[in-house]
Amino acid sequence: MALVLEFASTVRHGGHGGLVDDLATPEGFAAWTGAEADEALRQRVVELRWAVRSLLAHATQANERLDTPHLMDFERALKTVNEAAARVPRAAQLEWTEQPRLRYEDSADAGDRLLATLATAAIEFLASGTREDLRACPAPRCIRYFVKAHPRQEWCKPSCGNRARVSRHYHRAHD
Ligand SMILES: [Zn+2]
Repeated sequence: MALVLEFASTVRHGGHGGLVDDLATPEGFAAWTGAEADEALRQRVVELRWAVRSLLAHATQANERLDTPHLMDFERALKTVNEAAARVPRAAQLEWTEQPRLRYEDSADAGDRLLATLATAAIEFLASGTREDLRACPAPRCIRYFVKAHPRQEWCKPSCGNRARVSRHYHRAHD
């Protein structure tokens, strides 16, 4: 799965009507990122995650979903993602011992590098042709995004399709 979708999927529907957020605790944050559980960094990564989800919602014209109240307006989301990516300006360096070799160097710390890596993955994804196959899963309660693997794929996974069919049947039977 693309890094941007893994990042977006750190928050999902929990099955009890609420959201489950893998990045909500220092332990969860450390487990997902492999980074030190620095609270300021955790908050920035969570903010970046909502910015990324806001852009995914914009790209897919997602309907109102369970995470909608957390989303930010388009301009702020763009700015948040772009600023995070710009935290690691890098310079091309030429190393020349036997053969000339390109190496990139930066002076960022590990936290900035984490933010920049996640933001850059989102930028590269959204600016690529893959974006056209990005979908917001329309199943009840699902808040996942997915890239269509084949033209007729409607749901992020088969269980979402089953749930949507059951829900439609239920509403037809009770209307
Ligand atoms: Zn789904």
